[in-house]
Amino acid sequence: MAAENPHRCSLVRRMRFFAALFVGVAVAATLVPPAASAASTVPLFDRLAALQSAYPGAVAAVEPGALVMADGHRIAVDDGRQKDHEAKLAAADVEDMLSQIYPIGTCDDGRPPERNFDPGRIRDDAVFRALYGATRQAAEADLVAVDWFGSKLPFTRGGGADAALRAVAKDLVAEPGLKKYLVPSAGTFNWRVVAGTKRLSAHSFGAAIDLNTEFADYWLWSGGKPGNVPRHRNRFPKRIVDVFERHGFIWGGKWYHYDTMHFEYRPELIAIGRLAEARGCPRS
Ligand SMILES: [Zn+2]
Repeated sequence: MAAENPHRCSLVRRMRFFAALFVGVAVAATLVPPAASAASTVPLFDRLAALQSAYPGAVAAVEPGALVMADGHRIAVDDGRQKDHEAKLAAADVEDMLSQIYPIGTCDDGRPPERNFDPGRIRDDAVFRALYGATRQAAEADLVAVDWFGSKLPFTRGGGADAALRAVAKDLVAEPGLKKYLVPSAGTFNWRVVAGTKRLSAHSFGAAIDLNTEFADYWLWSGGKPGNVPRHRNRFPKRIVDVFERHGFIWGGKWYHYDTMHFEYRPELIAIGRLAEARGCPRS
């Protein structure tokens, strides 16, 4: 057999190299839209990895363009539509859901949120249905009782949310001065849409808890209307917020559309917030 032509060999190598380069660039372009990679020090790829780590039993893999859930079905990361804030709230994809970075630790300057800064309020229903149950009956089947200062609250065991709420209660019970803010809870599980919208609330899945309404400030109760949000108010101590955040919950008091009694299990957003803290606190 004749020896291989060395020129041909190097040409083939070069073609293979450029083919691999093309595939690599194509995959990177799918994972990280140019706008996100240019603007943020927490690229979409890192946000998706945080999402997978936060729900290891539910998200099996992150593929270019899709989350692969444990049951094998795929959820698209990006629906390709350009949306303003209202459109993201109405019909979010995964990318929208992770587009605002929840401020935590040294990234939280304590100032009222800027207009439409609602990290965590944008939710992709498909992700929540996959995590906690696609229907009311399925979500109910995953509820367990969590002891909350002597009362039993239904909370989802999906993603370990029930264990996280128990850990919150264990830390807070050591500080009796805070109890008046915590009880009675205004509710956990309630299969319903967010007021004035067609979107399911995190309460629909038993993954959120409302604290004592006596201290609550909610933009709609304060007379707000879409496009006209009253001045931000809060009467809950920061100490309570710190404990919830430590165990993977975000707080509705950090939203422009504020809801200060509302805490929601979103360990992916806490993890992304910590990444941002280490990288100079980008807000999106
Ligand atoms: Zn709530």
